[in-house]
Amino acid sequence: MTVSSGDPDVHATNSARLFERAGNVIPGGVNSPVRAFGSVGGTPRFIREASGYTLTDVDGNNYVDLVSSWGPMILGHAHPAVVEAVREAALGGLSFGAPTEGEVALAEEIVARVAPVEKVRLVNSGTEATMSAVRLARGFTGRTKIVKFSGCYHGHVDALLADAGSGLATFGLPTSPGVTGAQAEDTIVVRYNDLDAVAAAFAANPGAIACVITEAAAGNMGAVAPLPGFNEGLRRLTREHGALLIMDEVMTGFVAAGLASLRAADAEVYAKLGRNATALGDLMTQALTAEGVEHRVQYAGTLVSVFFTENTVTNYDEAKAAQTWRFPAFFHALLSRGVYPPPSAFEAWFVSAALDDRAFSIIADAMPHAAKAAAAAVKP
Ligand code: PMP
Repeated sequence: MTVSSGDPDVHATNSARLFERAGNVIPGGVNSPVRAFGSVGGTPRFIREASGYTLTDVDGNNYVDLVSSWGPMILGHAHPAVVEAVREAALGGLSFGAPTEGEVALAEEIVARVAPVEKVRLVNSGTEATMSAVRLARGFTGRTKIVKFSGCYHGHVDALLADAGSGLATFGLPTSPGVTGAQAEDTIVVRYNDLDAVAAAFAANPGAIACVITEAAAGNMGAVAPLPGFNEGLRRLTREHGALLIMDEVMTGFVAAGLASLRAADAEVYAKLGRNATALGDLMTQALTAEGVEHRVQYAGTLVSVFFTENTVTNYDEAKAAQTWRFPAFFHALLSRGVYPPPSAFEAWFVSAALDDRAFSIIADAMPHAAKAAAAAVKP
């Protein structure tokens, strides 16, 4: 058993042991690539439990969670109302293969909250949702080609893995092995935030494009908000060309235990998410500025990202051009001081409404050390 070099925190003995065991029975030792810490090095922390904003790993270390299960834990972990709803549901039997009132209530809640949504089909994962949406678009239009944006990730759907961000960005994989030429051929990849490129794709493929798929705000190359008018422009172009527009927004908290989460997520919770995102970004900016590290803190809604570059990042090429080699040192300095950021420079940071003054004082204490580590990082 070894704790990998590059990991300054050696209090990860049980995590290291579990990672070794996992490697024998799970490819890469994890069930989603970014969890393996591949791009930051060191030992992935195996989480034993979580409550509010605190993650506790199997070695008993506590961390302020800035991943929030990649979005859904907007209320914090093990929120009493959500736990109670899940407990009650479990006591009544978990699955019947027949319709229930709960799914109607959840669909009604989503339709009431999200303006353009009229009907909801609930599925188990983002991958299934985008796969089904693309098939629906192809069936409806009778066309085959789809347009996606470089750096946007839509799950492991064959046709959508071309130039995706997220795990692929983290590991620098080329378009996935196993995706055939025929599957990739119908996917046109263009630059995010570039309406001219979308118009050019329509011009070059008259009557052939079934749909354009985008993230409502890109969150898989870091947080990159749509430029003003971009989403509206997509709506206009797709309408003009008889194609459909698919807005993939998977990371917003509409998942298991969704109804209880949504009902507890009132305006105050969303306001708090916004305040917490800004407070986190401000702490990063202060610390990195004090150390003279070139950086940009960006927001897309309440998603936060730090890019080690002085320029605003509006697309994947610009995200990749940042000094991502500073990120592992920044990450580990935070982790070793009880803060759990996303383990990749290309993943967004997710705050929850559970973060309070104590959480922010832990983050504030850790951040100057992380900024120093980022400043001292050496380009490989
Ligand atoms: N779409 C987007 C925008 C995503 O961020 C993700 C993963 N977070 C997916 C789809 C895939 O979702 P899943 O992992 O549930 O298949």
